[in-house]
Amino acid sequence: MTDTTASNLIRETVTNPREVEQLITGVPTSDGAGVKLTRVLTQPLQRRLDPFLMLDAFGSDDPDDYIAGFPNHPHRGFETVTYMIAGRMRHRDSAGNEGLLQNGGVQWMTAGRGIIHSELPEQEAGVMEGFQLWLNLPSHDKMRAPWYRDIQSDGIPEFTTPEGVRVRVIAGASHGVEGAMKRETTEPLYLDLHFNAATRFEQALPASHNAFVYVYRGSAEVNGLQIDTQRMAILKNDKGSDGVIIKAGEGAKVLLIAGRPLNEPIAQYGPFVMNTQGQIFEAVRDFQEGRFASQG
Ligand code: MN
Repeated sequence: MTDTTASNLIRETVTNPREVEQLITGVPTSDGAGVKLTRVLTQPLQRRLDPFLMLDAFGSDDPDDYIAGFPNHPHRGFETVTYMIAGRMRHRDSAGNEGLLQNGGVQWMTAGRGIIHSELPEQEAGVMEGFQLWLNLPSHDKMRAPWYRDIQSDGIPEFTTPEGVRVRVIAGASHGVEGAMKRETTEPLYLDLHFNAATRFEQALPASHNAFVYVYRGSAEVNGLQIDTQRMAILKNDKGSDGVIIKAGEGAKVLLIAGRPLNEPIAQYGPFVMNTQGQIFEAVRDFQEGRFASQG
């Protein structure tokens, strides 16, 4: 584990914090072979939260809710980032990758021009909890070769602020600590914040980057507005704002996610996300005719 001591941290200073634009309650749904989940970032929010396309939250101690998993299915044109809070999932894909995703670990998969994968639980009881975020690829990267990385929990850089917030830096950088992943064009920031005390957390953010907060334990407050558990708050992009200040009580857990918008057309058909309808037809045809990575 990379645990940076407080004395080495570079302080983030926010003087003009963002406000909350909108609170979102996720939509209960099921996906895969019948896994129950909550879709927090839904298709109508894709433009507003560009470059993010989807956020699913799953969490249950009832095996009936997760046991069927996600059997073989394709993706093209974006990246999936799965963050496992609790539980064990086995990943296998058509590019030959295999990995066990578990407690506190992250799987980062670039579907690129096409991959077929399965995500199946490797437990028959107990809690399964986590998140899957879809990050769009810029048009020039949509047809790149598929790529995959498993990051075990101890591979995610962490630090604790002097105020007592434990920060896990999945992507981007915070307080001078570089995260496990970096992406050029969209510069995603993905932080998991654990409030070990009732306090505040400050993070500088470029005003043009789209950003949101998702509270998964306790409640939090941004600029005077309360965000209850299992709620997403979309943050305003006011010119002149320089970051976000999140206040929360002891025990609260919050995801902070931000990125630079691509401002490119989005064409989605299920697991394919491209720029035009023609590219979607091509994706469906390539999949049906077996042209995804090592397919068939
Ligand atoms: Mn998938």
